[in-house]
Formats: sequence, structure tokens, C-alpha cells
Amino acid sequence: MLAPDAILPDRPTVLTRAQAIAARATREGAGARAVSLDVLAASLLERVWRVERKEQDAKEAIDLYRAASKDMSLPGVCDAAIAGANLSGELARDASTTYAELYRGSHKNGVPAPCKARLEAEMSFLSAFRPPPQVLDAIDRGLEGEGAIERASDAGLRVSVVPKVTNVEQWSGPEGARVVVTLDGPARYQAGDEPSAQGKGARTYVELFGVDANGPARSSPMTGLVSQLKVEPTSTGARIALDLTGPGYRKVFHLLEPYRVIIDVAKNIPGQQKGTGKRTVARVVVDPGHGGNDPGAIGPTGAKEKDVTLDIAHKVAPALSRLGMAVTLTRDDDRYITLEERTARANGFGADLFISIHCNAAEKPARHGVETYVLDTTQDQIAGRVAARENATSQAANLELGGILANMRLADQAQRSNRMAELLQKSALASLANDYKDVTDGGVHPAGFYVLVGARMPAVLFETSYISNPEEEKRLTSDDYKGRLADAIVNAVKAYREGR
Ligand SMILES: [Zn+2]
Repeated sequence: MLAPDAILPDRPTVLTRAQAIAARATREGAGARAVSLDVLAASLLERVWRVERKEQDAKEAIDLYRAASKDMSLPGVCDAAIAGANLSGELARDASTTYAELYRGSHKNGVPAPCKARLEAEMSFLSAFRPPPQVLDAIDRGLEGEGAIERASDAGLRVSVVPKVTNVEQWSGPEGARVVVTLDGPARYQAGDEPSAQGKGARTYVELFGVDANGPARSSPMTGLVSQLKVEPTSTGARIALDLTGPGYRKVFHLLEPYRVIIDVAKNIPGQQKGTGKRTVARVVVDPGHGGNDPGAIGPTGAKEKDVTLDIAHKVAPALSRLGMAVTLTRDDDRYITLEERTARANGFGADLFISIHCNAAEKPARHGVETYVLDTTQDQIAGRVAARENATSQAANLELGGILANMRLADQAQRSNRMAELLQKSALASLANDYKDVTDGGVHPAGFYVLVGARMPAVLFETSYISNPEEEKRLTSDDYKGRLADAIVNAVKAYREGR
């Protein structure tokens, strides 16, 4: 037998042996012996990955660590769960992945107290990378689901698979509206249009096949472009209908975890407004990142991203108003707002510009600098540490995002977003560099941020500085530094409006 600390033979030999050991673990079934065999196979694959860097080996190692940590009460399982979580995060280059995996382990049934304490200690080291509450909730629901399915089959019961409408939210304004239908499982859907029942305007609808409408037909009034929203059960499932007061452009897409169908209607087709020279910037939406029970990243001495971003937004808004622009904040106090609602508010407000304010964070405390992001509309697969953290969502959801982007017409908007991002980056450097040492230009990057998806106007995400860096954390809590960052945003908007 090959011990984990033996000198490593070549890769094919290791793989063959690891496979044989894993096969023995499978034959062994459950129990302590199966756990130790799985862990041995996993650690061999992890070691060979550290030398050869073949991603497949790390993935198989993660799977084996997971297989080993099914029953948390067995000896050696806590080590397996921690090793698997660390390897997952290392492979994803994202400490929030490690955090999520540790969380999953600590929230399983029957975790002995000493193991729970160890997992929680590991998580506390990574508190700056804690994913937002909705991600952790999704993990809990996933664990619950696994438990429920097990119990149901034990009792010989059939598990219901009919997805149900669990929530319907609506936002509207003169320029557009958004309806978000949350289901407790994925469903097939189809959008269509028909003349409105009242005989004026049009009706746009989405059929949700095989979905339980969760109650009788109900309708609620809306204002602006949509006059009424209706949810009703049909013979094939459920139907969501929006009565429009005038001609509108419709886009329907879905997001995962939880499964949501999003219906966007707008007066104008996005990306159609033409312009040369001076750009019209009459309305600006400023989005202070995070809020409420989602603190965002937390600095080494405890500064919270959500507080910094709100402070900066509160400095930006009056300054833009003084320049004659109408300004709306997506939140005006310490409250949680979903990513969909943020862009929905911008769309409903008919904003010409959407600016999302954040603080960056990294595993390495030394990392620092100012970065600006625009929505990546070219990649199919969205990767990237920052995007993963700000989206705080799963790899599956990231892949899903790729599909949404492929269907969007954003060329003009993307170009304008890029221009605004460049101006913001330049203006931030100009505003900070004279009085603060080592302000680093991290540049403009495309990434897959949910908060920018669905925005119908040029949109940027400003990572002001690294709150995980002790020096920048200190700066981010100072009024002067936040004022400079606010100036940078205001100057960039001014330059953008002037057509620079
Ligand atoms: Zn953030």
C-alpha cells in the first residue's frame, strides 16, 4: 500500500493506485474503513495535482474528500471536510469557495461538537470572504433537500417534484418595469404577447409549464408602463401576465439559486439611443454595494464594505444633484437589496448611467489598488475571483449567466460602459495619488457581475480599494479618502457627460 507520505511515483502509477483504493472504498460501503480509503485516494490525487497541476486530478480529489465526509460522526471525517474545502478554494482561486464548503460541512446533520468548532474556527479566518446570506441559505436548503429526499424514500413516500411559485416581486417606473417570479425548483417557460383584456395597450405573458401557481388567480396594480400584474393557475401550469399601457420591449430570462424567472419590459429597445459628442446624462443611479444582513467584505479591524459604500454614495448624490442631474440611490440606509432590484430600480428610473460602488478584498493582505469593472459580454463562461465574490453565487449560476449574456444586445452600451470605466479609473487616480502613497492603478476589467446584468444603461462597478489591506482599510474609514473617491465618481460623470 502506498502511504500518503511516501515519495510520489509518476502520475499514471498514482492514478491507477488511487483508483484502486477508491474502488475498494466503494466496495466497503459506509463506515470508518471506507472513509480512510477515500481520504487516502484523495490525498494521493491532491499530491499529484500539486506536482503536475492537472485540474482533473484536483477535481477527483475534491469528489473523494466529499465522498469521505458524508457521515460527519465518523473518525477522520473532519480532516477530510477541511482538506476538501481548502482544495476547492485553491482550485477556484477563491476563498469564498473554501468558506462555502466549510459552511456546508458545519451545517450537516450530526456533526460532533469538536468538529463543528474546528470548522467554525477555519471559517472565522476567512470571515472577509463570507459569501452573502442568500448563498449560505441556498446551501442550507440544499442540505435540507438532501435530508428530505432521504427521509421520504426511507418511508416509501414519493417526493413531490412540482415546482411552486413562492414569491412574485415587482418594480416599475415610467421607462420600464421588472417582475421577478421565484420558484422552488426549475421550470420550462415561454413568453408571448396578446391584445390586452381591456382592449387598449398590449399584454405580455409568461407561461410556466408544470408549475403550481400556489393559490387562486390574483392581480395587483402597477404604475407606469405596466398597469396590472396577474398571476393565475392554468391547465398547463401557471401564467404571469403584464398589462402594458403602451408599446414595450420585452425580455425574459432566468437566474438560479433560487430559480427565478425575470420579466423585463421597457419603453425603448436598449442600445438604440444614438448620440455623438455630448452624452445625455440627466439621470444617474448610484448603487452602494451590499447592505443589511449582507456586510460585503470585512477588513482586518472590522470595517464593513456596506458602510463604506453607503458613505461614498451619500457624498456622490448631492454633488451630482448640484450639477443638475437627477440622482437615485438603490439604498439610502443599511438594508439588504437584491441584485435584481438594484438594476430594476435603475431601469425603472430611466437612468442614463448606473454606478455600483464596492470595496475589493483578496486572500493576500498585501494586495491593494483601485479597479473598475464593466460587464463582460464576450465570455461564455464567467470566471474570476472578484465576480464570484460580488455575485456570491455558484459556478452553476455563473454558467447560466453566460447564456443570458449571449442573448443580449449590448454593443453600444458596452462601449459606453467601457468609456465611463476608463474615465472613472483615471479620475480616481488623479483624485487620490497626490495625497496618498502607493495608490495603484488596477485598471479596467470585464467580469460577470449580476448587478450589471439587465441594466439597460451604461453601467460600471467601482472597486474603490482593498478593504482586506490594512492600510487601505484605514483609508476607507477616513472621511477624506471617501470624499476623494466620491470626487472621482463625480468628475468621471462630468467628463462622460461632456463626451470625453
Ligand atoms: Zn462588494
